[in-house]
Amino acid sequence: MADAYPVYAKIDGPIVMIGFGSIGKGTWPLIERHFEYDADRFTVIEPDARQHNFLRQHRLNFVDTALTPETYRDVLGGLLEPGKGFCVNLSVDTDSLDLMKFCREIDVPYIDTVVEPWAGYYFGTDDNAARTNYALRQRVRDEKAANPGGTTAVSCCGANPGMVSWFVKEGLLTLAADLGRDDAAPERREDWAALMRDLGVKGIHIAERDTQARAVPRPRNVFVNTWSVEGFIAEGFQPAELGWGTHEPWFPENGHRQETGCKAAIWMERPGAITRVHTWCPTPGPQFGFLVTHNEAVSISDYYTVGKGHEPEYRPTCHYAYHPCDDAVLSLHEMFGSGTTQSKHHILSEDEIVEGIDELGVLLYGHEKNALWFGSRLSNAETRDLAPYQNATGLQVTSAVLAGMVWALENPGAGIVEADEMDHARCLEVQRPYLGPVEAHYTDWTPLQDRWEMFPEDTDPDEPWAFRNVLAS
Ligand code: NAD
Repeated sequence: MADAYPVYAKIDGPIVMIGFGSIGKGTWPLIERHFEYDADRFTVIEPDARQHNFLRQHRLNFVDTALTPETYRDVLGGLLEPGKGFCVNLSVDTDSLDLMKFCREIDVPYIDTVVEPWAGYYFGTDDNAARTNYALRQRVRDEKAANPGGTTAVSCCGANPGMVSWFVKEGLLTLAADLGRDDAAPERREDWAALMRDLGVKGIHIAERDTQARAVPRPRNVFVNTWSVEGFIAEGFQPAELGWGTHEPWFPENGHRQETGCKAAIWMERPGAITRVHTWCPTPGPQFGFLVTHNEAVSISDYYTVGKGHEPEYRPTCHYAYHPCDDAVLSLHEMFGSGTTQSKHHILSEDEIVEGIDELGVLLYGHEKNALWFGSRLSNAETRDLAPYQNATGLQVTSAVLAGMVWALENPGAGIVEADEMDHARCLEVQRPYLGPVEAHYTDWTPLQDRWEMFPEDTDPDEPWAFRNVLAS
């Protein structure tokens, strides 16, 4: 039934996909389904021999090499054609900014799902400020400021970062309508920020609960996850980091402000993957999530700022509150407890997962209706019917890559953009058929509830949504 799927654009020239792990493998069938292109001119760059069988079986061209700072220009230059095609970067250990700059130099549209550095960066320094996502993102924002416009390069367009920025906008419009306001969707950044402020939103959790599970228990000394283990370990060992809102009455003792750039975020002297926060998702209700640093925590707080710098008129707090699949929680527990990373890594495939959903949304809190969760509740079972070679987590990411590619082709001279800066309605229109139930849920819950009375904590009763209450002791 291939013709049941919309073909969004014709891509002339070579398409180069860098990295063919869980996300690359799931993105390829969506590209095949939704674009017209010459399959002979689709090439994957993938250094891991474990992925090569699949590539051979599906007759996909591939180059068996790991891009490095020394080789990327030659390798990409040999595969891409100036002014044509597309470069889809879904790898780890490649510097997103270098690749993006090269693609823009030769006028080839580019997309990635994270601002990734070259291999060695995450563990190569004990300067924690330099290891923040703030620092990684700011380099891309500085490049955008230095070279505005030009060939479109979409930065950080996966599920989160990516899709959740579109959910924030959809959530704001839902909240406005439910409060009886008749706001049209704003077009300019300033107006979106004013809308969020006027609706009384104090902050946003990227609130995720992944319940996907397989039948067999996790073996000891294996890190199990539903997406890149390498990527998750790297970000989990970065410092906890969050966009810092204007309603916050307190500052963490181990917190640091940023002195250059947009100054929208702070970071803490503690790895994100062992920093727990109180949060809420529709399936579990109240739950612990991990405050793992993510690009969108900075970009969303920055985008919705009214004013500038350390003391703007308005800024929302924003951070990830991630409960990964249970096997990943146990894997983190084992890794941090033992002080060593597991030598075996395993990404749960759609075929071995026997139950569960990835519930990924945004919790907009602090307003008249208390809190609104807006997001996708995609099950692995439904995913298997929607698209091949991926679990629910993967499809939320790969369908965002698809939406980002469509938007980039429809907006060829937009320069460097983040998901916040794209047309969220168009992107969600493309992505929504792959997201399962996309729902809005209000809750009365605040982080002051569901605490253990026999162990009183140092909370702020006057501001239920203060980060001090969100942060678990
Ligand atoms: P993965 O670990 O399964 O695959 C990454 C692939 O990159 C591997 O196959 C690896 O061999 C390849 N690679 C490593 N070094 C390379 C190099 N130097 N040159 C070319 N290829 C190289 O990871 P994944 O789950 O497919 O994730 C891919 C990327 O997407 C990661 O950066 C991850 O952080 C990101 N991601 C983003 C989101 C989001 O929602 N924004 C979600 C999941 C993953």
